[in-house]
Amino acid sequence: MRILLVEDEPKISAYVKRGLEESGHAVDAVYTGRDALDWAAAAVYDLIILDILLPQVDGLTVCRELRAGRNRTPVLMLTARDTVDDRVSGLDAGADDYLVKPFAMKELLARVRALARRVNEAPKFAMLALADLMLDPSAHRVTRAGKVIQLPAKEFSILEYLLRNAGRVLTRTMIAEHVWNYDSYNQSNVVDVYIRNLRRKMDDLFEPKLIHTICNVGYRLSVEADEN
Ligand code: CA
Repeated sequence: MRILLVEDEPKISAYVKRGLEESGHAVDAVYTGRDALDWAAAAVYDLIILDILLPQVDGLTVCRELRAGRNRTPVLMLTARDTVDDRVSGLDAGADDYLVKPFAMKELLARVRALARRVNEAPKFAMLALADLMLDPSAHRVTRAGKVIQLPAKEFSILEYLLRNAGRVLTRTMIAEHVWNYDSYNQSNVVDVYIRNLRRKMDDLFEPKLIHTICNVGYRLSVEADEN
């Protein structure tokens, strides 16, 4: 998932970012409420992790403004105090869940998974399949014709994204924005390099070919070859 992390304390921000990235998520970290609103307007995120006490614009206001602007991205609120008032005001502002500081990384990751499950109509953790290609998101496992294919985290994320959108043409930008954070996806051919690696591992030795290049546009995962 691509996650926007809004937390002004550098130590907590770095700790959360690292934990999420180790779990395969792409994380953009910002430190003020103003930046949170700018970044949420500029990119599409799967989840926003939002601290309540922030400089300039506080987390509750950020959340209210997002919802008022029809931004439906799930929000996990971070709060320093566990009082009923804090919880109620967070949920009133449009947050989907909240977590009280200090928290263990394990608990944060569990909340992130639960939110991902709750907000997606298609269950995030159900098995994905196309022809003889199978991908199990919860076990992080890919097989083709019954053979296990080892994929590093980014290649796995790209394949999962392609599978969730099987039959649709995905541009390089769509793929990049889904898998990398803002800092790392600016190299233009990085998606092509990853697709080449994926093909070598899960397409070259098998039939039918599943990854199709759509000239000058991007890629599509499907059983049928392209019409164009
Ligand atoms: Ca804070």
